Amino acid sequence: MNSPLSCPLKHSDCTLPLAVDQLRQRVSVLEHQSLTDALTGLINFRGFERHLAQEMERSRRLESPTSLIMLDIDHFKQVNDQYGHDMGNLALVHLAGLLTQALRKLDLACRFGGEEFALILPSTPLNPAIQVAERIRELIAESPLKRPEGRLHLTVSLGVNVFLPLDELTPTGLIKATDQYLYQAKQAGRNCTHHPPIDRRAENSAVDMREKQELFAVFGRRQEK
Ligand code: GH3
Ligand code: MG
Ligand code: MG
Repeated sequence: MNSPLSCPLKHSDCTLPLAVDQLRQRVSVLEHQSLTDALTGLINFRGFERHLAQEMERSRRLESPTSLIMLDIDHFKQVNDQYGHDMGNLALVHLAGLLTQALRKLDLACRFGGEEFALILPSTPLNPAIQVAERIRELIAESPLKRPEGRLHLTVSLGVNVFLPLDELTPTGLIKATDQYLYQAKQAGRNCTHHPPIDRRAENSAVDMREKQELFAVFGRRQEK
């Protein structure tokens, strides 16, 4: 929070402090708008990139994992084709509401683009992240958009991945890797969640990081495949 300005020349009728204050407020509104998706009110892609980079940095510092979920509405083109673009937009807003409702306080829901969403789960290992993803998948499948003409059912496919403090992944690398699991979920028939093998990634995240660093010091860093 910026402290209120006063006139440096101590002129009692100076209007500059008020003008500067109004400009600051305007900049803050514009900054919020530039990071927000106008349709759904979720964080937009630009905001997502910024938050993901921050969370990965925090992971490194605090030695705790960050999980990422990417989800895409199944056969959404059919929704637009069958009910029109406006109904498609309503479905996107409906889905954004479900995501916001389902997430925990510190998790972040973002509109990645089109009918694709990304969820950042700070301090969350892979296993709980998969549970969150499955809970969201079920919630969406069980919560049709109610319209006077009937119910519009939606399903989503999800990819989950985890970033561990010693991983040498960039935000773009993490997004790409997670997107591959989303792609697998589509290939597997949709309305499902795909992720790396739980035993390897989940166990790694539970390993004492100090112990892991000591091992790296002795044996050198080995890239995880
Ligand atoms: P899949 O299960 O493989 O994901 O199939 P899909 O039909 O969902 O995927 P596809 O990429 O073929 O189509 C995505 C559709 O999402 C096409 C595009 O018109 C629609 N879409 C993207 N953004 C918006 C939007 O903001 N509003 C509306 N109404 N539709 C959108
Ligand atoms: Mg889709
Ligand atoms: Mg898509």
